[in-house]
Amino acid sequence: MIESDCIEHECGVAAVHARDLINIPEKLFFTLFAQQHRGQESTGVAYRKDGRTVVYKDLGMVSTVLARYLERERLCRVGIGHVRYSTHGGNKLENAQPILVDCNKGEIALAHNGNIANMPIIKERLFAEGSIFQTSSDSELILHLLSRSRAPSFLEALHEVLPEIEGAYSMVLMHDDTLIAVRDPSGFRPLYVGEQDGVTVVASETCALDIVKISNYRELEPGEVLIVDHLGARSEHIGKREAESRCVFELIYFARPDSQVFGHSVHTARKAMGRALARSDEVEADIVVPIPDSGNSAALGYAEASGTPLEFGLTRNHYAGRSFIMPTTAERDLAVRMKLHPVREVIEGRRVVLVDDSLVRGTTARLLVQLVREAGAREVHLRLCSPEIRWPCFFGIDIPTRRELISNAMSPGEIARYIRADSVRFLTLEELQSCLNAPGAYCYACFSGAYPIEVPLTDEERAVGRERDLREMREAMDIAEHRGAAHNAPDQE
Ligand code: SF4
Repeated sequence: MIESDCIEHECGVAAVHARDLINIPEKLFFTLFAQQHRGQESTGVAYRKDGRTVVYKDLGMVSTVLARYLERERLCRVGIGHVRYSTHGGNKLENAQPILVDCNKGEIALAHNGNIANMPIIKERLFAEGSIFQTSSDSELILHLLSRSRAPSFLEALHEVLPEIEGAYSMVLMHDDTLIAVRDPSGFRPLYVGEQDGVTVVASETCALDIVKISNYRELEPGEVLIVDHLGARSEHIGKREAESRCVFELIYFARPDSQVFGHSVHTARKAMGRALARSDEVEADIVVPIPDSGNSAALGYAEASGTPLEFGLTRNHYAGRSFIMPTTAERDLAVRMKLHPVREVIEGRRVVLVDDSLVRGTTARLLVQLVREAGAREVHLRLCSPEIRWPCFFGIDIPTRRELISNAMSPGEIARYIRADSVRFLTLEELQSCLNAPGAYCYACFSGAYPIEVPLTDEERAVGRERDLREMREAMDIAEHRGAAHNAPDQE
């Protein structure tokens, strides 16, 4: 997907604790730089220096905002950092993280990746009781709850508060000189920890540990609270759900292909998805072309399984900015052309299979198909390595409303006509699950609407859900009644 028509992260986190004094902000710079893909709108660090907590954050990318930390040494023992993509909170400095508060438990800094599903209920209660909120981010809520807890110590307060919050949270906290990392009991978002020579690093993805040369790492368990201080590292638990709900989109799109996530190599998992897509595809094509960069690994798998040559028929301009305001079709068209450009010599006269990770609104896909046709393609077939996205996410991913999602309005055949492709095919849920090491441990709610925990759907969304359930029930009954005639029906895409 390219950014004008895609679903987005809501953040990545990093944290460092060192036995001896080291340049912690510099380490945070590199771990955040490696995770820039998880959020490009703001970034920041918090670290303990000379007995006080320093926070520096701003709107912008890591290389700009945090470049000052490459200029001189700041020796200390603990720090946390964050990259953020803004959604509901808006792209405002006040919502940038880490957030620092000074409360009855001492100074607490927090950086959070995820989304608290029961935030509206808790926030309403706290607001009614007189709490003042300085940000619109749900991360601040956790700090309010910690401050209000009657538990005598910070860690006891943390254990009291965490069971109260529902949803996705992989977060890092700093309390005095102690580093704490927490992964929610459902394990929605990844969180890794590694240690080398007395330096412990925590990050959302393993590519951030690789960049600081830590190869000895492990994933935090769902519900694990990791505490690192001058005594070393120890783990406590906040209870584990019966079922894990790892976000399958981390593997499909969000995580970097060179990362490990949920015990999978992201690149290998995407290749397997491409292979699964090709196995049940009967289209005749001359070349397979990835939509860079998100479609690269899957296209390779598709090409291998189908025996169709992989070609780099689209070039991506990595220097095109992402924050285009594109109110008109002409401007959107220009933005896509600035970012992706076809290689005519590769495409001309060929039957092309375009491979991407997923389809959201379809507006970019339409422009891309047009680009590839203008470059002389004889046929264009779009293949998506995820099932159809139909439902919003309440666990840290920004997905447009149900009305905006093209798969709620059109079948694959209708989408093909709309984007002027010769055909469109999605990976099925079963095919996706066949690529995973523990398919029962994942969340698939944006495809199925079956949320693993209760979520604040609007009345309209609930009505749509009920309608869908009724429709599917009726269809199931129809199928049962007409089973004998079904095999004579014409094939539908
Ligand atoms: S709803 Fe979709 S995007 Fe959200 S956590 Fe579940 S799988 Fe991930």
